[in-house]
Amino acid sequence: MRTKQFKSESKKLMDMMINSIYTHKEIFLRELISNASDALDKLYFKSLTDNSVGIAADDFVIRIELDKDARTLKVIDNGCGMTEEELDTNLGTIAKSGSFNFKNDNEKVEDVDIIGQFGVGFYSAFMVSDEVTVESKAFGSDGAFRWKSKGADGYTVEPCEKADVGTVVTLKIRESTEDENYDEFLDQYRISALVRKYSDYIRHPIKMKYTTKKPVEGKEGEYEDVVEDRTLNSMVPIWKKDKKDIKPEDYNNFYKEKFFDFTDPIKVIHTKTEGQATFSALLFIPEKPPFDYYTKEFEKGLQLYSRGVLIMDKCADLLPDYFSFVKGIVDSEDLSLNISREMLQHDAQLKLIAKTVEKRIKSELEKMLKSERETYEKFFSAFGVQLKFGAYDAYGANKDNLKDLLLFTSSHENKYVTLKEYTERMPESQTAIYYACGETREKIDVLPQTDTVKSKGYELLYLTDNVDEFALKMLGEYEGKKFVNVCDNDFDLGTDDEKKELTEKNEAAKDMLAEMKKTLDGKVNDVRFTGKLQNHPVCLTSEGGISLEMEKVLNSMPGAKENAVKATLVLEINAEHPITEKLKTLFDNDKDTFTKYTKLLYDEACLISGKGLDNALEHSNLVCELMM
Ligand code: ADP
Repeated sequence: MRTKQFKSESKKLMDMMINSIYTHKEIFLRELISNASDALDKLYFKSLTDNSVGIAADDFVIRIELDKDARTLKVIDNGCGMTEEELDTNLGTIAKSGSFNFKNDNEKVEDVDIIGQFGVGFYSAFMVSDEVTVESKAFGSDGAFRWKSKGADGYTVEPCEKADVGTVVTLKIRESTEDENYDEFLDQYRISALVRKYSDYIRHPIKMKYTTKKPVEGKEGEYEDVVEDRTLNSMVPIWKKDKKDIKPEDYNNFYKEKFFDFTDPIKVIHTKTEGQATFSALLFIPEKPPFDYYTKEFEKGLQLYSRGVLIMDKCADLLPDYFSFVKGIVDSEDLSLNISREMLQHDAQLKLIAKTVEKRIKSELEKMLKSERETYEKFFSAFGVQLKFGAYDAYGANKDNLKDLLLFTSSHENKYVTLKEYTERMPESQTAIYYACGETREKIDVLPQTDTVKSKGYELLYLTDNVDEFALKMLGEYEGKKFVNVCDNDFDLGTDDEKKELTEKNEAAKDMLAEMKKTLDGKVNDVRFTGKLQNHPVCLTSEGGISLEMEKVLNSMPGAKENAVKATLVLEINAEHPITEKLKTLFDNDKDTFTKYTKLLYDEACLISGKGLDNALEHSNLVCELMM
């Protein structure tokens, strides 16, 4: 019999398991039970359509056998089993689930954190045993085969005797050492505690022969061993249990193990719904986005069960995109077990469940916002962008649903604010909701246009995420108050008299302003005097709905180069600033310097707005010329 080599990645994993210093070696049992349970599910599925399986639903069972003398622990199932080829490929190669990302060889032994992060599968058995044997007979095949390995050196596969379909995994448990106690894995109390801890909700019975001491009848003080067959797990999935019987750490452990997170969820939603749609849902809002959350690779969805049997791992139709961060499971009585993916999409029952789930998530977020503000803000820092995107997406179809869940930073105490809070504390004289866009709060604060708003005591929203302004544009207004970008051309807080005076000034300087516009040669659509600036001489504003920020965002999208958008810009000059007198004098007497001043003022406006210079070299030459 030839010894086969493990595929190289499997060998590395095997090495890691054998040399593991991981403290939670006990998880090997969970892994083996979970494999056995999957195998039972597979055969159970088959039995629904294939009478030749010949096993009644209740007879699918996982069995654990301990033998202290032989130092063996067996996990036995009557599931689908494996053929010779399957033993070879499934156990000789690790399933490339994408979870593993091997570093180079010399890191392998220390780098055992991965064990805590992901389901490590079958190989974890080598953390506690010197030798692992898998005897299996696949459903539909005549012969049985034995896979055997003592570790990283390789494995053998040979025919063996096995009457029934299913799999027996036998671990030869290691001898205890000074540092490590392996004997505990041969102890019935310890094993049954481990089953309850990690595998309680497995829906098939996990049975074990259990020995207890009972008083011998009629003989006082004498005890005898009584062996009984015990089912160690409650078989009730956590989501089907009564809420009052579940501790917060039960939820947290379940979440972390099932959804591969290290951090407890920020919110657990456990709900049972009856009526039009009957289902239980156990939903989790993570504290932080998974590393791939904002990439194309991320797949949203909830695990979908039908009466406790998993029918789909990531059912996308159960979650709207704006709640795609939610993890969890839905278990329904109403769905058929062998429903196909295509049919599911059109399933009215599923749609009903999705609607209910969405409502529930929303109301839970509203509750959090109301009574756990700090938690909500933490949540919003992690996933707020997704909600804002939801308000904008689908032409604003969901904006009313989401508008009260949005938070923005504002000039009021430098805190997060809701639109409701903003409008409720608006002074009577204020007619609109003001915002400004920029990379950071600090950069926005230096925009000269923000001065008037702040000097009037109005609150300013700081829009620092790319999606922010798009979301507000889609909302259009909140409680009848329009959103106004203080960098828009038509933003003006002046009185009617002030506006009239300004029109007159513009009219009087018509020729000069037209000359400036000509000098700037298409860079701006207009040059105007303004009353909106306090101390600063100039600013850039935009007209026609596309702001400088939107220009930046839209043009940064893939494929935008061909159809670049341009904001229509206006150079506004502070009518009260001494520079206007200077300009007038130059216009009348020194056209050459007037041209240079015009270009410089435009450059200045570009710099302050965050747009940046069109031509830095030209600007630098210009400054030097004037300095000399
Ligand atoms: P995973 O379970 O994550 O796929 P494992 O290393 O635990 O990875 O198992 C590898 C594969 O071996 C499984 O996907 C399954 O196909 C097969 N397998 C393991 N244990 C059993 C079993 N008891 N019965 C049938 N197949 C099994």
